[in-house]
Amino acid sequence: MTTCGMDTADFRRRGKEMVDYIADYLENIEQRDVYPDVQPGYLRSLIPNKAPEEPDAYEDVIRDIERVIMPGVTHWHSPYFYAYFPTASSYPSMLADMLCTGIGCIGFSWAASPACTELETVMLDWLGKMLHLPDDFLAEATGQGGGVIQSTASEATLVALLAARSRIVRKIQEDDPDRQELDIISRLVAYSSDQAHSSVERAGLIAGVRMKKVPADKTFAVRGETFSAMLKEDKEAGLIPFYFCATLGTTPSCAFDCITELGPICNAENIWMHIDAAYAGSAFICPEFRPLLNGVEFADSFNFNPHKWLLVNFDCSAMWVKKRADIIGAFKMDPLYLKHDHQESGLVTDYRHWQIPLGRRFRSLKMWFVFRLYGLKGLQAYIRKHVGLAKEFERRVREDQRFEISADVVLGLVCFRLKGSDETNKTLLKRINEARKIHLVPCQLAGSFVLRFAICARTTESRHIQEAWSHISEIASKVLQDLPN
Ligand code: PLP
Repeated sequence: MTTCGMDTADFRRRGKEMVDYIADYLENIEQRDVYPDVQPGYLRSLIPNKAPEEPDAYEDVIRDIERVIMPGVTHWHSPYFYAYFPTASSYPSMLADMLCTGIGCIGFSWAASPACTELETVMLDWLGKMLHLPDDFLAEATGQGGGVIQSTASEATLVALLAARSRIVRKIQEDDPDRQELDIISRLVAYSSDQAHSSVERAGLIAGVRMKKVPADKTFAVRGETFSAMLKEDKEAGLIPFYFCATLGTTPSCAFDCITELGPICNAENIWMHIDAAYAGSAFICPEFRPLLNGVEFADSFNFNPHKWLLVNFDCSAMWVKKRADIIGAFKMDPLYLKHDHQESGLVTDYRHWQIPLGRRFRSLKMWFVFRLYGLKGLQAYIRKHVGLAKEFERRVREDQRFEISADVVLGLVCFRLKGSDETNKTLLKRINEARKIHLVPCQLAGSFVLRFAICARTTESRHIQEAWSHISEIASKVLQDLPN
């Protein structure tokens, strides 16, 4: 007869075994195909169609990890994974996450777990200082700004948009109290680059506001002049511009909107500027990449994902605002059961007012462990190593006359293609991914089908880049041979 659940003695034993399993998995990950060879629905036939009446044995559950789960896993932490952007993974972060789960608190208010709130506020200040954010964004500086951990960049974009919507409606109604909210909202217009992540357009859909895409220039960056012309036209048409989401490090090509031009325009026009630096933001801890963030002083809010490139496992999306009152003003709800003695003291932060859900995990533990165990120098070295590997791959591509580079390589992403048709490049990508040795995804740049090669795994080394390039080059030769003359 199997015992129900697990007692403490078993937990100690099984926990240690699980750490060993994870360490073995990561240590030997290269031996697995990076991309799974399964068809949709593969899993249902491998497990019963309902939960067991009687408890299963732990050994059986563990056995099923290799039988049921691993065949359908895309191994994001394999050094042969070059798709999307990275998702972070480090041992300190995993251990902190275990502790977070063990404590298991829900830190929606200061009183709901003071350490959860206070460590988060301090960690966002630490990280803000690593990036040299202007003091306005730090909680310790004026007490007006500060940082919060959101789950994802998509949420940060939406939260900023909703706060901006609420701020503009309040402002217009202050000047004209008879103006109806619905009438104002129907005239609002938000903007982003045509290279922005789809989550920005989605935020517009969710918030029920018109969203326009500003065309990027040849380098895939939005320039001030283009934005100004659009604003002029829209204002003449009776619309109310209120929000601009700038991207630093676009998803297709890692391009950087020109925020030193866009910021002053936004400030002059009372437009909320949010900066989405989901991937690239981590690089700004290195002095040589910090100039890419120049212009942040004009922003109302700034966000990037330590869970992408700063060794803090998902989820951990860092967001800062200059005026916390703007966010709290948009989201504050205070039912009696969530009130506490200190909330009116002005001394505490209740993060439930800064986000969409109520519940929140103790995610700042992961930041604390990672920042302390790597140190700023260790984190900078990690970023530099990835950028160096991307440059190495870029060199290989440039040395091969059959290929071309499709966008400037600034950080850890290389966009490249075979000179020739989209069809040829689609065939190349299909064959690469079907071989399952490495994994890439494409993008569209200036109307062309392009392959993206993003340095992702913590353990990627130069030898993996060399192997990946030889593999791509061999497949390219076959694709070119197979072309009709
Ligand atoms: N913004 C940019 C520029 C991105 O590249 C991505 C994802 O790659 C996102 C937003 C979405 O990130 P998240 O999954 O944290 O919402």
